[in-house]
Amino acid sequence: MIYRSLLTIVAVITLVMTVNAQDYHSYANPSGVRVRHVDLDWDVLFDQKVLKGSATLTVDRTSPTEPLILDTRELKIEKVETSTDGTRFEAGTFKLGVSDKILGAPLTVTLPTRATRVRIHYSTSPGASGLQWLDAAQTAGKKDPFLFTQSEAIHARSWIPLQDSPAVRVTYTARVRTPRNLLAVMSAENLSGTARDGDYSFRMRQPIPSYLIALAVGDLRFRPLTRRTGVYAEPSVIAKAARELNDTEKMVVATERLYGPYRWGRYDILVLPPSFPYGGMENPRLTFATPTILAGDKSLVSLIAHELAHSWSGNLVTNATWRDFWLNEGFTTYLERRILEAVYGRPREEMEAALGLRDLNEEIASLDDRDEILHLDLKGRDPDDGSTDIPYEKGALFLRHLEETFGRARFDRFLKTYFNHFAFQSITTDQFVAYLRQNLLNENPALAANVPIEEWINQPGIPAGAPKPTSPAFGRVEEQAKNWLSRKISPKQIPAAKWTTQEWLHFLRYVQDAFESKAANTPTPGSRPPTPALMAELDSAFHLTRSGNSEIAFQWLLMSIRNRYEPANARVEEFLMTIGRRKFIRPLYQELAKTPEGKERACEIYRRARPTYHPIAVASIDADLKCPAGN
Ligand SMILES: [Zn+2]
Repeated sequence: MIYRSLLTIVAVITLVMTVNAQDYHSYANPSGVRVRHVDLDWDVLFDQKVLKGSATLTVDRTSPTEPLILDTRELKIEKVETSTDGTRFEAGTFKLGVSDKILGAPLTVTLPTRATRVRIHYSTSPGASGLQWLDAAQTAGKKDPFLFTQSEAIHARSWIPLQDSPAVRVTYTARVRTPRNLLAVMSAENLSGTARDGDYSFRMRQPIPSYLIALAVGDLRFRPLTRRTGVYAEPSVIAKAARELNDTEKMVVATERLYGPYRWGRYDILVLPPSFPYGGMENPRLTFATPTILAGDKSLVSLIAHELAHSWSGNLVTNATWRDFWLNEGFTTYLERRILEAVYGRPREEMEAALGLRDLNEEIASLDDRDEILHLDLKGRDPDDGSTDIPYEKGALFLRHLEETFGRARFDRFLKTYFNHFAFQSITTDQFVAYLRQNLLNENPALAANVPIEEWINQPGIPAGAPKPTSPAFGRVEEQAKNWLSRKISPKQIPAAKWTTQEWLHFLRYVQDAFESKAANTPTPGSRPPTPALMAELDSAFHLTRSGNSEIAFQWLLMSIRNRYEPANARVEEFLMTIGRRKFIRPLYQELAKTPEGKERACEIYRRARPTYHPIAVASIDADLKCPAGN
């Protein structure tokens, strides 16, 4: 009995916390009227860069008087209809509110008594922040245009009128009409197969948050990898993509062994054209990925491990608001490394974790205290601002601290139970902490005393006693770098032939640190060490300026700008003109802009590249560079 009433109390508290977890980034009122299913119907109009059609929302009403409030951004609302029997629709009353720069405009629909369905006829605007329309010239094939969506964090509202909060989960269907020769794919079950007829139907039966609704249309081909995994890409990319990603099934199996069954049916990967602003997006059943992971040697597939891990952390158990983003990304970064360890061995995991710690320390050095907190306050800010290394790397380090403190076997059991317990729910940081206390900390108070939970979640910086992941392989790389820098060996004597991408990245960062500490210790100000000459030595031995590996090329180009290594200038420009992944291009522009000549060059390149970048990347770089008008 006591247990029963305790459970009731816990259930009530959980309910109250869910209701109180206010989402500052949505106008919606799900506590009174909650959308639970969406039927979408569109024509994809490439000539106008517009989706035109309707969204029919099925709602649950706990308040008989409240209207339905939806999030929208730059949508043209044609008309709104409501239905009480679910099939016959009548003209409805609606009001589109004033548009806020970050949130967009609320769409308020008056609900007649007993109305349970609302149909909105609308079209998107050509500048919709969640859609990128590519001209044929921006694709690999150069023949057909391409469209893809990116809804996280709050961009779904720019192409669908809905309750755009991760706390609201919906099932959906969609019917999509496209030019006949193109294929449409979505984050859902494809009901029309891959026959090309310009008319495609989809169904997502598991409830997902709005930011996971995704669509892409282009000249796509499909190549199965195993019974439940496969790859979509443009024809000229598909063979390379299928080769690079053929460990996908191994990753799914490894994750299932650790954290329980994969619950989404298929796991496919869509390799997008290079303007995709992110590395990957974990759209359920269909990860969207940048082509910059196709290195030829599987060295960058950690990105797939990451997006796959989201099938548990993020898609199955979801952050209830963008303040709780670390519940998605910290867990996923931790899971990603566990998957890499299971498939590629411990040394690979050690390297990735060591690189992650370095990224985290660099990020912390440049952030305000308030942005170093896991449970971030984003009120009044764009949630995309919260996307730093903090939720990812600090979150992962926190979980690693728990693993090291309680032991791997016990922590693995805890995580598996956690994913089961909250499956298909959206939860807050408070809910996670309550669950953690109940199911791990309280059972082991002596061990729990070693993990300062409050400090991890609500304080800036990294708590003392945090894990310090190291990599013996990196120790060996540092020896080689030292020997070369002290002129004991020539670059050709560095045994780099078998280095992985991760070892290369560590080598380059170590060398850059050495350049900088040397510069800092140079007695006469202004007399810099001859770094361009050293850069030239490395380049002639390893052809780094021409590297086709996007991570190595990025690191090298960043160093080239910093050390004024001019032979790489043309390659910097080529890189910026052909790749749109924000993680790469933004730091390169920032580095260029540190000198007046560099800033001029950055603005000159950006003026030409800007039309090819995604709106999300453009928003960041516009704000960073503030190029003069007309440039
Ligand atoms: Zn992620």
